[in-house]
Amino acid sequence: MKPTVHGLHHITAIASDPRQNLDFYTRVLGLRFVKKSVNQDDPGTYHLYYGDYAGSPGTILTFFPWAGLRRGRPGTGQSYATGFSVPAGSLPFWQKRLAELKVATAPAERRFNEEVLTVFDPDGLRLELVATPEADPRAPTPSADVPAQFAIRGFHGTTLALTDARPTASVLTDSMGYRQLAQAGHRTRYAAGAGGPGTYVDLLTDPALPRGLNGAGTIHHVAFRVPDDATEVAARSVLLGRGLQVSPVIDRAYFKSIYYREPGGVLFEIATDQPGFAIDEPVEQLGTKLSLPPRLEPHRAEIEAALPALT
Ligand code: ZN
Repeated sequence: MKPTVHGLHHITAIASDPRQNLDFYTRVLGLRFVKKSVNQDDPGTYHLYYGDYAGSPGTILTFFPWAGLRRGRPGTGQSYATGFSVPAGSLPFWQKRLAELKVATAPAERRFNEEVLTVFDPDGLRLELVATPEADPRAPTPSADVPAQFAIRGFHGTTLALTDARPTASVLTDSMGYRQLAQAGHRTRYAAGAGGPGTYVDLLTDPALPRGLNGAGTIHHVAFRVPDDATEVAARSVLLGRGLQVSPVIDRAYFKSIYYREPGGVLFEIATDQPGFAIDEPVEQLGTKLSLPPRLEPHRAEIEAALPALT
């Protein structure tokens, strides 16, 4: 059996001010605040999760916000852009909305058979609203600010910036179940599983791009999804077999994860679909309380007191 990932699970980025981050992703983009937790390595800071109503894999963008953190520089060795799937014909709505809200954007461009609007979040993180003619059956997230017919459906894909795409492409296609789909200019697109929005990985080898530097407004890691623990363990042994250094399976409460750095420098994670974000609060109440891992629960009072209020 050749274990395969089924597309993207979540993407984690670095931010500065957590309040500004929460406002942008919930009010401006209309995502749901799915989980309020802490950085397990630095419990004095948040780990914030945004996604669709149910917190489905393939919709989740998470942030480690550190107030006052210096900006990074998007570039090679990083996930360079995060694409969200929006319905065909919805870009005029977004262009008008983002202009009114004074959000920085770049002119829309055509890529493959899609229209792409690049949007910069308050820390300069590069997002792309990808209006795709492909069917995207995922439900829009209910939002007071963004009508359902224009709403984000979840991830479209991620773009990795690389100096040489070949070693990364080899890991994707030989060891992760990805297949090459399309190529244009410096960009090659790969898809996994059933394909379609939520599965795409684009490899970009634009010689004009600088080397990436970590900091606010850059991506920390990209997580791919597998359905269950057995598939994750099988994927781990395939990756170890090709000589990659892979972490043990780590229990992240909402999913189990392995981590490895692909040869182009991007930190990859493989995460299970189960058990999901409703394990410690019901779906209707996702994101309303501070969720802590069991080992930090005894320190809840002091952790809550040290965190900045979000509203
Ligand atoms: Zn992760």
